Amino acid sequence: MKFGNLAWKKTALLFAAVLLLALFALPGTVRHASAAATAEASIVLDGQTINGAEPVIVNQTTMVPIRVVSEQLGYSVNWNQSEGRVTIGGEASPLVLTIGSATAGSASGNVQLEQAPFVRSSTTYVPLRFVGSQMGLGVKWEQASRTVYLQSPVPAPSVPTVPETPGTTTPTPVAPSNNASIDAISFSDNRLTISAGAAVTPKSSTLAGPDRIVVDLPNSAFGPGLLANGSLGLGKVGTLAVENSSLVKQVRYSLFSESPSTIRVVIDLNRAVGYNLYTEGNLIFVDLNDDGTAPPVGTDGKKVVVIDPGHGDHDSGGVGITGVKEKDMVLQVGLKVAALLKQEPNIDVIMTRSDDTFVALDDRAKIANDAGADVFLSIHGNKANTSSAVGTETYYADASRSKTLSDTIQKHVQAATGFRDRGSKQANYVVIRKTTMPGALVEIGFLSNSEEETLMMQEDFQQKVALAIVAGLKEYLGV
Ligand SMILES: [Zn+2]
Repeated sequence: MKFGNLAWKKTALLFAAVLLLALFALPGTVRHASAAATAEASIVLDGQTINGAEPVIVNQTTMVPIRVVSEQLGYSVNWNQSEGRVTIGGEASPLVLTIGSATAGSASGNVQLEQAPFVRSSTTYVPLRFVGSQMGLGVKWEQASRTVYLQSPVPAPSVPTVPETPGTTTPTPVAPSNNASIDAISFSDNRLTISAGAAVTPKSSTLAGPDRIVVDLPNSAFGPGLLANGSLGLGKVGTLAVENSSLVKQVRYSLFSESPSTIRVVIDLNRAVGYNLYTEGNLIFVDLNDDGTAPPVGTDGKKVVVIDPGHGDHDSGGVGITGVKEKDMVLQVGLKVAALLKQEPNIDVIMTRSDDTFVALDDRAKIANDAGADVFLSIHGNKANTSSAVGTETYYADASRSKTLSDTIQKHVQAATGFRDRGSKQANYVVIRKTTMPGALVEIGFLSNSEEETLMMQEDFQQKVALAIVAGLKEYLGV
């Protein structure tokens, strides 16, 4: 018997589901006395233990904080607090969970959950096994070790295209949408960075009164990240806030034409300025400078550093006890790091985001990979269920590639914060797993601890942390 890849996966998942149902239906299975009883469990994704996942088991169901689903499994998560609703996954087939409701909405209709999502200590918990299997992960529970094993789907083999035989008249199919998605737009250090899902040939022009640089991206369309904040159809304009630039007021972007689909990005200038427009992989750069001859990113032997402030827009990340949003704190620190790196003659910096926009985790990694970056650093703030958790920690995904970087960043940042040293450790965060260069993810401190939360929002503390990050990067790069 021969199965296609997909058929095999479906069968395997079905088998796993039946096995699990049978397991949990057995009368001999240890059951907790009360619905509130919880126990420790661990989660292993593709053979690697997920650290800091803090799952709890309620009525035999492993519940995980929603940030595990976004940060470690890499799915887009939209959390509507007022309605108590969590939407996971893309627009095509979202999974909708509601706090306190044992019914979830999926592409194939309503599904019953063994355990309703709940909020505990201001952390939202969702059933891991259900979410995992709905998102196409293989899920297996091992009772003896109290471990949930997750397996990412194997990418389907690419279907070979049949070359067209000359002379045959195949009817021309309706052209599929082959627009490149525009996934992220950021501006820092007089450099506009646009990340596309495929190669784009940009066209630029300048306008005066007021001074502007116009960049058109033919055959492109907005990706889900930029659309997350609302419609960007014809006539709608998105803006990118630009801070601390003497040259640039703001950056605007809009759908300029529908056929062919063309996105227009406009840099509003304070005065006329030279610029250099170029592409690297699927990245488009516009470097502003007075003589228009800025060398492209990474040339002249410069090291390319990608700074990734975590979360953004609807994804606020962890929310501290006084309401500080992780996305705001890490952006403030990230922009300070970028400003410091700009002064380094041997370093070029690229930001994955420079304002309150959302960039998908895969796209953050892709920006660094496309740029051929030398180092990737993601900046985060931590959160725990208890206010007693404190300290600075740094993560790497692959020890041989990234442990030295992670150790170096941890050494400098922990010395700057003075927080407890939680060490440099392994974890499979998507952004450091999918980047191909040395990458680390630093958790500056805990937003769930009031002292650390207060400090992390202070200007001088953030500057001290930014200086430490730059010192760590320079030590690692040897520049
Ligand atoms: Zn985070």
